[in-house]
Amino acid sequence: MKKTTIWLLTIIMVITFTSLLYMQLIYTKNVVELRDEQFTQGVKRSLNAVSRSLELAETKQYLLNDMLQSDMPAMGRNSFTIMIGADDEDDSGLGSMSLLPGKSWRERIRDQYTYKRALLDEVVLSLISQSNSLPIQERADSALVSDMLKTELASNGITLPFEFAVVNRMGAVVYKTHNYNVNLDNDRNTFVQVLFPSDSRARVNYLKVYFPDKRDYLIHSIKVIIPSMILTIILLVMFIYTIIVAFRQKKLTEMKNDFINNMTHEFKTPISSISLAAQMLNDNSVRKSPKMLEHISGVINDETKRLRFQVEKVLQMSMFNNQKATLRLQEVDANSVIQGIINTFKLKVERYGGQLNAELNAEDAIIAVDEMHFTNVIFNLLDNAVKYRDEERPLQLSVSTADVSDSHLQIVIADNGIGIRKDDLKRIFDKFYRVSTGNRHDVKGFGLGLAYVKKMVNEFDGEITAESELGKETKFIIKLPLTKI
Ligand code: ADP
Repeated sequence: MKKTTIWLLTIIMVITFTSLLYMQLIYTKNVVELRDEQFTQGVKRSLNAVSRSLELAETKQYLLNDMLQSDMPAMGRNSFTIMIGADDEDDSGLGSMSLLPGKSWRERIRDQYTYKRALLDEVVLSLISQSNSLPIQERADSALVSDMLKTELASNGITLPFEFAVVNRMGAVVYKTHNYNVNLDNDRNTFVQVLFPSDSRARVNYLKVYFPDKRDYLIHSIKVIIPSMILTIILLVMFIYTIIVAFRQKKLTEMKNDFINNMTHEFKTPISSISLAAQMLNDNSVRKSPKMLEHISGVINDETKRLRFQVEKVLQMSMFNNQKATLRLQEVDANSVIQGIINTFKLKVERYGGQLNAELNAEDAIIAVDEMHFTNVIFNLLDNAVKYRDEERPLQLSVSTADVSDSHLQIVIADNGIGIRKDDLKRIFDKFYRVSTGNRHDVKGFGLGLAYVKKMVNEFDGEITAESELGKETKFIIKLPLTKI
């Protein structure tokens, strides 16, 4: 896939996902608002009904009291109630009116109606005057208000727990439920209802109600949307991951192509040298000169060695494909193996005018490794130090071993080469990774050496880290577990 195609796909998908999420958010917001509105309407209806019920209850109570009083003549009654009482008895009052001669039933009913209206007027008047003088906590008893609220809210489909308070015109609390929070008085979620709206303005009281769990209730209403949002987010994460993989894969393909190019180049040079030597051998004059023959055999020898080294590297790469490398672990003395490598490598370093110092100070250096691969590891690191040396100054290469703890051996390989930038340092152990900048990239490589080194060190249960300063030095530190004898 082309890079531009991946980018195009990314942009389209990002736009799609953001729109999807945006639409879901808008929908959620609408649902919450609608639910909030329904809730508010329900509460308002309930509060209205409570206020109305209180008024009705008060009126009923008054009438009841009035009737009770009328049943007890001793307690004193007004003129109308006497008449009500009289109405009950057959021999006096209105009851006796029916006995009056000449009055039609029509007139009798009219009389009765007039009388009852007057009675009601009287009741209403005294109701207004009496109730006005009663304190609000008696007119709207807290238990009664609580019950009424519960019933009315339930009939409007609201079963949430609530807290309420009755406050007077000045805002002072007359009574409140235990958990009513006065600080939330002016909150937009506190509902207010005037109690006994017919009272004079000076004596007006308010019922304030709020629902501590209202938020949860609203959130509950969007529960169905949450899974779809989570799914969208999961989809988005998966998509981002896929794009990252696509980019990585693209990079890996490029690296593999580089690798093939390099490999071809690395193989071509020794092959052409050998074929040139073979052609020379065909020449009679060459064959007659033993000096020339010696030279040609030397060239063939060197070039085959080089070829073998390249093949070895490709083989090292193939190790990555095997899930588990087949290693022959054996106990070896790291000091003596390293010493052996140094002896052969010293010449190479000196040929470049450099110096190779060894400080193999570890007293206990017995480790369990595959000797062939361990040698390759040390060799690769030394070889890199030579490859990436700074041409401006003679190479100073040092190898040291030390016991850092009772259980671990530390091997440090340090050089004064071109160094590695911090960003690259993080990636040099990646497969096919090569530092793309710097003046040394006339040096051919596969970007596999360090990946192989790391894999092997890990196979030996050890770890490797690199420290470097650009233009100054590079240090590789290997820690390997000691085998206890
Ligand atoms: P290769 O040498 O084939 O490129 P390696 O995996 O051995 O691959 O190294 C990866 C990169 O790390 C190299 O391309 C090089 O830039 C950098 N590097 C490795 N060793 C050194 C070193 N001693 N000094 C400076 N740079 C180094």
